[in-house]
Amino acid sequence: HSVPVITIDGPSGAGKGTVCRLLADKLGWEILDSGAIYRVLALASIHHQIEPSDEESLIPLAAHLDVQFVAEQNASKIILEGEEVTHSIRNEEVGGVASKIAALPRVREALLRRQRAFRQSPGLIADGRDMGTVVFPDATIKVFLTASAEERANRRFKELQGKGHDVKIGDLLSDIQARDERDMNRSVAPLVPAEDAISIDSTNLNAHQVFEQLLEVVESKL
Ligand code: C5P
Repeated sequence: HSVPVITIDGPSGAGKGTVCRLLADKLGWEILDSGAIYRVLALASIHHQIEPSDEESLIPLAAHLDVQFVAEQNASKIILEGEEVTHSIRNEEVGGVASKIAALPRVREALLRRQRAFRQSPGLIADGRDMGTVVFPDATIKVFLTASAEERANRRFKELQGKGHDVKIGDLLSDIQARDERDMNRSVAPLVPAEDAISIDSTNLNAHQVFEQLLEVVESKL
């Protein structure tokens, strides 16, 4: 494949979204936020009252999912069945449902083609769990970005507090641990670094420092 891809995989809250945006801006490439696709599917399943265990109903929903990513100046708007869901897919409930349906092999299969269609010139930054292992195994550069669960809960706590939400850090930590557990132990496309991935631990780094490290890797390999 002639269009280059940089995959950035890792657990939730490791800071993938931020560094992917910085890198996409720097290179002028497109972004695939694959987690958003799972979240949109989760929200659609909630709207259609389909249980996360009902694989038979989720497969056609995934295959025909009416979602659009509309690029705007410095963000992208997400539209599901004509309704803007950019912000409503970001809550813990939707994230929890997303991680349950993401464990279903045939649902993942139904979303593969849609994800691969994001690979367009001049290049793609792909953010997710299985970007380097399953979706783009031939990626040009593969990165695995991690941070301790405590640090990820802490970041999420600050983010939600900043938005005026009343949350407990202990609850966030147990949500993160439950999601890690499901994402790492599922039978298909579990969250593991690709064999040829470069790992970056962001526990003690801010977004700018992670970006600097990433840029070094990218500049030496592109
Ligand atoms: O990254 P984000 O937290 O938005 O992803 C939501 C959920 O979607 C994850 O917890 C994970 O279970 C699932 N997911 C996945 N594969 C991806 C991206 C996300 O299974 N490539």
